[in-house]
Amino acid sequence: MTAGIFDRTLDHGARLLADRDPELYGLLEREQVRQHETLAMVAAASTADPSVLACEASATGNVTTEGYPGARYHAGCELVDEVERLAVRRAKEAFGARHANVQPHSGSTANQVVLCSLLAPGDVVLGMGLKAGGHLTHGASASMSGRFFTPVRYGLDGDGLVDYAGMAALAREHRPKLIFCGASSYPRAIDFERFREVADEVGAYLVADISHIAGLVAAGVHPSPVDVAHVTTTSTYKQLYGPRGGLILLGRDAGTRTASGRTLQAALEDAVFPYLQGTPRLNTIAAKARALADVATPAFRERAERIVTTAAALAKELDSRGHHVLTGGTDTHMVLLDVARRGLTGTIAERALESCGVIVNKNSIPGDRHGPRVAGGVRLGTNVLALRGMGVAEMAECADLFDTVLAAVRPSGDRDYGLDEGVRRAAAARAAELCRRFPLPDHPLPAAVRPDTGRVAAAV
Ligand SMILES: *Cc1c(COP(=O)(O)O)cnc(C)c1O
Repeated sequence: MTAGIFDRTLDHGARLLADRDPELYGLLEREQVRQHETLAMVAAASTADPSVLACEASATGNVTTEGYPGARYHAGCELVDEVERLAVRRAKEAFGARHANVQPHSGSTANQVVLCSLLAPGDVVLGMGLKAGGHLTHGASASMSGRFFTPVRYGLDGDGLVDYAGMAALAREHRPKLIFCGASSYPRAIDFERFREVADEVGAYLVADISHIAGLVAAGVHPSPVDVAHVTTTSTYKQLYGPRGGLILLGRDAGTRTASGRTLQAALEDAVFPYLQGTPRLNTIAAKARALADVATPAFRERAERIVTTAAALAKELDSRGHHVLTGGTDTHMVLLDVARRGLTGTIAERALESCGVIVNKNSIPGDRHGPRVAGGVRLGTNVLALRGMGVAEMAECADLFDTVLAAVRPSGDRDYGLDEGVRRAAAARAAELCRRFPLPDHPLPAAVRPDTGRVAAAV
């Protein structure tokens, strides 16, 4: 295809930005280079490919409207209606859903929509506690979900797994109107059926939040909640490699009536707009459509499988180097480590690794004696490593790099990680070499990252 006005606008826009606003352009350029040159092992992240970024930068973002395709409040929506219908169709296909709402601005917004459409203020919400691995929007006291509603929290059992029996007992005692399952830092598969049995027993809605594992679910590598939970929510920038945003999916309960006699589908549509959101971000919806199309490809499934096998290998390699892997391993992309047992904090580990170009995040762990800004754990994920084409063989290298850095830190106080400069340089060189050897596919590469192997022939 020849370069049309869309391509020329993107190119021209970047040139204009460089000319008119070199300060901002410089920051954006450097951020892009940083993503190439650092080893991202953040479990809540992925890297959207340039076709997704292009959709986000498209002129669909100029279209102001409200409502849904075919029922907008403004003229001029013929084409964006097609874009949104495409996104909805692809979301339904990707997850085998009966209904999809692609407008939520984020995963958190999707959860707020669900809470506000199905509950009245003060109703009881049963969700996983924050330190156990739950998300803020599942009833944490720092979030509206824990203030406008009455939160009850379940946790983990002695093996670090979801305490299903304890959750069921809490449900019987407190009779929640809504139960959340799905987590932000929990490396094991979730038994959605078990949650649904409890929800049915106490007359609660079950909401499955698959923000972290949406790619595994779509690829069939993790059981799907879409026909098990009443509602499924997800963010789109984690394992869907899409833009920052959210989705609400409905399966066999799409037509189930709420207390007011409306279907779940209708109640949720009205809760996205006009109850909680205004105009949809149509450029982001285009980017969601683009990312969701990839979900249907064999390459996506292959990568989802590799995300899981590499995470299992990473957990094993870290364990064999004496690190404490929570739950002893993983079923997903995520590996959780207790670094407090080594006399470190999550912050110290995060900062020391960052100084070597390895990007991870500190994370609270069950029974953590530190607050969330310090934390006793580190959370790792393999979404970006798998995208870069790494396999099981490279996990020994990643684990070794991680271990070398953490073994060398000599922290003093909360912030100073005391890493010997020679060790730091050697580790940074190893991280940079891994990034060069496994460049982000389909991305133009900055000069410093361009491999001499010719492995990425398409790179420009
Ligand atoms: C990341 C996450 C969210 C929030 O998504 P945002 O799009 O960042 O608002 C919600 N729930 C869970 C379980 C998450 O991990």
